[in-house]
Amino acid sequence: MDLKGKRAIVTGGTRGIGRAIVLELAKHGCNVLFTYRKSSNESKDLEREVKNYGVNVFSMQADAASYKDAEKVAKAAIEKLGGIDILVNNAGMTKDNLLLRMSESDFDDVIDTNLKSVYNYTKVCIQPMMRQSFGRIINITSVVGLFGNPGQANYCASKAGVIGFTKSVAKELASRNITANCIAPGYIVTDMTEALPDKVKEDILNKVPLKRPGKPSDVAKAVVFLCSEYADYITGQTIAVDGGMSM
Ligand code: NDP
Repeated sequence: MDLKGKRAIVTGGTRGIGRAIVLELAKHGCNVLFTYRKSSNESKDLEREVKNYGVNVFSMQADAASYKDAEKVAKAAIEKLGGIDILVNNAGMTKDNLLLRMSESDFDDVIDTNLKSVYNYTKVCIQPMMRQSFGRIINITSVVGLFGNPGQANYCASKAGVIGFTKSVAKELASRNITANCIAPGYIVTDMTEALPDKVKEDILNKVPLKRPGKPSDVAKAVVFLCSEYADYITGQTIAVDGGMSM
C-alpha cells in the first residue's frame, strides 16, 4: 500500500493508537503533521523516529476541541506539507461515571474532545480536499458507540455521534472523490485502557473471540488500508477492529 507523497493530519498523535497511526502512515511514505494536547516531549521523540522513514513530519500542540486551533493546524499543514490529502481524527478521552454521578462538565468535555473535534478538523480540511478532488477522512470511533456501555454515556454518545457525522459527510463529499469512514476499535492496549480495573479488563477480554487485546498497530494498519487505493470504493462505513467482539 503506497502512500508516497501523500500529506496527512493526525490528531492526538503522541500516544497509543494515534502514535501507531503516525508511524504506520510514515512507513508507507506519507508526510505527517500530528497534534497533541500536553505531551511535548513525546512529540519530539516521535518526530525523530518518524524521520527515519525519510518523510516530512511536524507536530503541533493543539486542543482538538478548539476550532481556532484546528484552523491553525490546517494552515500549518498547507504551508509545511503543501496540502492535505488525509485526515485522521483520532484524539479522544474518557471521563467515565454512571449517569447519576456524571457532571455536566464531564459530559461536555468528552463531547467536545471526541465529537466536536471531528467537526472542527473536517470543516477546516475539506476545502483543500475539494479543490484537489481527493480526500480520505478516517474517524476513530469505538465499538461502544455501536452498542453502549454502562458508565460511559458521554463517551458512547460522542462515538455514536462520530458515526452519524461520518455517514453524512460521506454522502455530502462523495461527488468530490472524498471518502469518509470510521474505524471502531475494541479493546486496544493503551494508556486509556490501562487505567481500567483488572476485573473490567478481564470481563472485556472474555467477550473477544480472538482471545487477545488489540495492539495500536492493529488499528493503524486498518487506517492505512482506508487511505490506500485498495479502499477507493469504500465510503460511509464503520470497520470494527475488535477481535470479533462486536459480532
Ligand atoms: P490515549 O489516551 O492513549 O492517547 C490519546 C491521545 O490523544 C494522546 O496523544 C493525547 O495527547 C491526545 N489527546 C487527548 N485529548 C486531546 C485534545 N483535547 N487535543 C489534542 N490531543 C488530545 O488514547 P488511545 O490511543 O487509547 O485512543 C485513541 C482513540 O481511539 C480515541 O479516540 C479513543 O476514544 C479511541 N478508542 C480507543 C480504544 C482503546 O481500547 N484504547 C477503544 C476504542 C476507541 P496528550 O498525550 O498530549 O494528552
